[in-house]
Amino acid sequence: MSMGKVYLVGAGPGDEKLITVRGLECLRRADTIVYDRLANPRLLRFAKPGAEFIFCGKFPKHHTLRQEAINELLVRKAQEGKQVVRLKGGDPSVFGRVGEEAAELASHGIEYEIVPGITAGIAAPAYAGIPVTHREYGTSFAVVTGHAKTSDGKPAVDWMSLGGIDTLAFYMGVKNLRYICDSLIQHGRHPQTPVALVRWGTMGGQQTVQGTLETIVRKVEEVGLENPAITLVGDIVALREQIRWFENKPLFGRRILVARTGGEQGNLADALSERGADVIEYPYFSVHERSDEIVVETIARSGEYERILFTSPESVTFFFAAYRRSGRDIRELKAMFYTLSRRTGQKLQEMGFASEIVQPFSASDKWLVVGEACILKNREQYETEWGTCDLLAIYEKEECYEYNANMVRLLRGEPIDTIVFPSAASVETLVRYLERAEIDPYAMFSVASLVCMGERTAEAIQAAGYSAERAASPTLESLIACLITEKVNE
Ligand code: SAH
Repeated sequence: MSMGKVYLVGAGPGDEKLITVRGLECLRRADTIVYDRLANPRLLRFAKPGAEFIFCGKFPKHHTLRQEAINELLVRKAQEGKQVVRLKGGDPSVFGRVGEEAAELASHGIEYEIVPGITAGIAAPAYAGIPVTHREYGTSFAVVTGHAKTSDGKPAVDWMSLGGIDTLAFYMGVKNLRYICDSLIQHGRHPQTPVALVRWGTMGGQQTVQGTLETIVRKVEEVGLENPAITLVGDIVALREQIRWFENKPLFGRRILVARTGGEQGNLADALSERGADVIEYPYFSVHERSDEIVVETIARSGEYERILFTSPESVTFFFAAYRRSGRDIRELKAMFYTLSRRTGQKLQEMGFASEIVQPFSASDKWLVVGEACILKNREQYETEWGTCDLLAIYEKEECYEYNANMVRLLRGEPIDTIVFPSAASVETLVRYLERAEIDPYAMFSVASLVCMGERTAEAIQAAGYSAERAASPTLESLIACLITEKVNE
């Protein structure tokens, strides 16, 4: 068996988009992904189908043993011939123990690469509006540990030497904050020196507390701020007032659950995080195209149909992909196109086809219904509504278990303030998956604002016993406007 390879990849500080292009490339190819608590679990959805996931962030007390076990695991997986990604928060070389892992791999003759990432000590301050250097406020910058493996956990830092450095970023320093501030003052830093703590920097849930070496401990205690946070010390912190930007985004501070039904690209989630929201998409599925004989035959005969109903955006993508592969001319298709939702209609429009939302009626025309494998179970329903039809299961949907398990962890954390339902089907799907995760959907629905786009979705929410706010028109822009102006339940 040929030997595998290990990529020690920096996942970036938090926001999933802050991973490097190279890091993402490695992630997409990996057979095995070993990740920890600080690497954004949303990155896992980029893994290829069938990739193996190993979470190694559960046992903070078993630090030493854990690291040995991880080293061993990386070696073993590579020896099995796997392409392994060891995904670490921030940059793997900054308090990421990459040195130990790389040394272990080297001693076993295993090939590896280190893929740098953006470290939290630079990124979290940047997202709080604080550059770590500035010609007037800070010409030197140091990265310092705020925690050590000693019995009292106090970092063994050369405080005297730090005295000459303008900006200090302490990692893992929340528990020892008092000790850090006292030590800095004792070694000559002015008690009025500005300090900022940035928790979960670059993520929708980012929290910043600002004070001075004298006041910060009290302020941090007041809000109960915990790790993971960067403690930034230096005059440069004062710049935040003027250049903060991320926290000014219109949806900053909002925790929004986007209910999902398929594996379609999360345009909606992207648009919400772009506006600063902390977005959780749940449940998540990956989709796989089917290309068996039935698909090939049905595509070959598709010119015979008078009406084709596309039941989801993916059904459009996969149908036309299969059509192109068949080598046929698109003009052989003479059917009218129908959809169940506007989103699917938009997908068709992007490809240059007009369509209508299907209305329940009975017709004697020959119908083709294209969709996910589950449509095969709904034949009776389709035939009652639209008469005799053929069904084409053009793709399959598979749940992303690891991803969903991580999203459940997030859902159990801070409360969700808003739930967005992009389609009628998403209501039932979300209820089912929340129940499966033993989260009471109705408790969640009663405290959150429920927001949707279309009439059918509003009806589905109503049928479940809740009322939803509906965007003025069923478009993404209108939904966003609705979310920005809407009052969040306290
Ligand atoms: N390799 C990581 C650091 C790992 S040490 C990097 O380069 O960023 C863990 C510490 O990193 C945490 O205790 C916290 O101080 C900091 N940290 C990691 N992610 C963070 C984030 N999103 N916001 C604030 N601090 C973060």
